[in-house]
Amino acid sequence: MAMEHAASRAAFDQARQYIPGGVNSPVRAFRAVGTDPVFIRKAQGTRLFDLDGNEYIDYICSWGPMILGHAHPALLEGAAEAMGRGLSFGLPTDLEVEMARRISTAYPAAQLVRMVNSGTEATMSAIRLARGFTGRDKIIKFEGCYHGHSDCLLVKAGSGALTCGVPTSPGVPADVVKHTVVCRYNDLESVKEAFAANPGQIAAVILEPVAANMGVIPGKPEFIAGLRQLCNETGTVLIFDEVITGFRLSYGGAAQVYGVQPDMVCFGKIIGGGMPVGAYGGRREIMECVAPTGPVYQAGTLSGNPLAMYIGLRQLDYLNTHPEVYAQLEQSGEKFAAGVRDLLQKHGLPYQLQQMGSLCTLFFADHPVESYEDAVSSDTEAFAVYFRTMLENGIMVAPSQFEAMFLSAAHTDADLEATFAAMDKAFAAVKAARG
Ligand SMILES: *Cc1c(COP(=O)(O)O)cnc(C)c1O
Repeated sequence: MAMEHAASRAAFDQARQYIPGGVNSPVRAFRAVGTDPVFIRKAQGTRLFDLDGNEYIDYICSWGPMILGHAHPALLEGAAEAMGRGLSFGLPTDLEVEMARRISTAYPAAQLVRMVNSGTEATMSAIRLARGFTGRDKIIKFEGCYHGHSDCLLVKAGSGALTCGVPTSPGVPADVVKHTVVCRYNDLESVKEAFAANPGQIAAVILEPVAANMGVIPGKPEFIAGLRQLCNETGTVLIFDEVITGFRLSYGGAAQVYGVQPDMVCFGKIIGGGMPVGAYGGRREIMECVAPTGPVYQAGTLSGNPLAMYIGLRQLDYLNTHPEVYAQLEQSGEKFAAGVRDLLQKHGLPYQLQQMGSLCTLFFADHPVESYEDAVSSDTEAFAVYFRTMLENGIMVAPSQFEAMFLSAAHTDADLEATFAAMDKAFAAVKAARG
């Protein structure tokens, strides 16, 4: 029997009367997969429950924060008491100190840490600080890397911007992005050329060390190491955007996995445990250029919000005291990848399952995906058929070819088996649709 979606449909009709497109972030509208969004009532562990009472195994995990699964007791314990002490003071608390200490201990490059309210704010502020510190205007970013929606970074961005086909958004003045130099991901030569063309002018190189917003494309180790060296040679600030990878690929993020420390780092998602949180950090001499110690301005009414800090700290505490979580995520990732590859083979489909730890993307492409160009040549029509079949069979994957699938520590072997069963049907549907 087909799933009932009447309540979600009614909610979406209402939503479109009051919210642009009915959603507060574009990918949630499910446009890229040719269907209407489902509205979520609650979540527990690996399960999402929608307004119609349908249940889904969740691989969105709120786009990363829910690394322990939804409504994990370790995060909720004491949260009501924390709330009872007051929701926001606009004055310092010891929770902020503990959060900064926690991040700095996990991530050596983050000698000093400033809390903000989103990943977008973190990258935007890091760029400003890198420019202030170096006295240079230009920055290098990479095609398909997404760093939030601030003006100077919304050039050839990934994720929603990719799905909607607006890599560069109207409303962003050309004058603002003229300082943004775009290079090719995993292509060190393109970076060398950019440095040669802009001598002494590049303030920062920003990247996702594992790209996860054009689908998952791991940075090649020699690419990451090469960027470190180029930045050293040119006095350029190397910024790792670890908003997804931080505290996910390992407790020390991608920097630990690659053995390369950046000059600055941005966090979000996991460090808030589901609350709206971001952070940026870096070498002391850079971070001391921000107000009040330095002249670069950056502030936030709700930055370091006590409830957000409480819940985020609970999650980091849990991850720190349960290092087996990372081994488990690694295993789940490999098990998932192997299962998907078996099914692809069974159905004779040429697609690519790319995985690193608990991040994966099934690219509907018949070639390995190492760059933005590779990614955008995927068969998004086939992806849409796959997505809709998975949804109808109770599996929630990201509603776009250009997003990661997130595994959490809550995902069990039984969850994976149920997912493979749905995928078996989805691949059959894809084959039927392709004729
Ligand atoms: C999600 C994300 C951001 C933006 O974070 P928001 O909290 O959505 O503003 C920035 N960088 C990366 C790599 C992300 O995945």
